[in-house]
Amino acid sequence: MNTGNEDKYWFVFISGSLLLEKTDETYSVPVSDTPPTKVHEWTYIQHLPSIDGKECMAYTINTPSESLINGKYVTVGLRASFKLIPIIFYNMAGKASELLYWDQSTKYCGVCGAPTKRMTNISKKCTHCGKEIWPQVAPAVIVRIRQKDSSGKERILLVHARNFKSNFYGLVAGFVETGESLEETIQREVKEETSLTIKNIKYFGSQSWPYPSGIMIAFTADYDSGELLLQEEELSYGGWFEPDNMPQIPDKASIARRLIDDWIDNLKS
Ligand SMILES: [Zn+2]
Repeated sequence: MNTGNEDKYWFVFISGSLLLEKTDETYSVPVSDTPPTKVHEWTYIQHLPSIDGKECMAYTINTPSESLINGKYVTVGLRASFKLIPIIFYNMAGKASELLYWDQSTKYCGVCGAPTKRMTNISKKCTHCGKEIWPQVAPAVIVRIRQKDSSGKERILLVHARNFKSNFYGLVAGFVETGESLEETIQREVKEETSLTIKNIKYFGSQSWPYPSGIMIAFTADYDSGELLLQEEELSYGGWFEPDNMPQIPDKASIARRLIDDWIDNLKS
């Protein structure tokens, strides 16, 4: 029974970074009955599903409170937290981040401009025209394209996008546009970015991608035709890679990495 002062997990975002408690070299999501930082009376506290019977709460603040300075807490980027905390907490932090982003971007009705009002943990309503507002998820696709060279050896297409922060190579990906099926998005993105056509498009899996609120839907495909010609505004490098000459690839937080690892594992077996 909820007595009102039970321990809860707190997913706190400070200027976009996640607050974690640091004990020696271990990081964890803060657990306490009250918020681990100072909150304003107008700070919205988002309720989330529970983990191991403990309630989960989330909020965002913009200035670090004094308690951060004593070394008990650190802030890390959401993506970086993948390596520091168990996956169940990373996933919940992603959900928290999406809901807080949604809360901040729906203070006013998109139809008439009047203020919106909270109805439930995941819905609001316009105070003037009554429009109901729920969190939106933006779908994007990602595809692993396989080709066999003249000797029958398999290789895959890896590209380096100009907006990648580091040196790693990834897979062709892009947002679904209005009116498209997922298969059409893949064909269009691959054609636009590499001028290739592909065949045998098959579903692989999907992953919530809370940057800021997406879902990444992954596919595998085979090369069909065309000469590799990169779209220069989006891609700076790209090419076909065999398992023994792989460049730096994305970290394990991404489904891109799962697609690449799956290909390498299947070649070995
Ligand atoms: Zn309205």
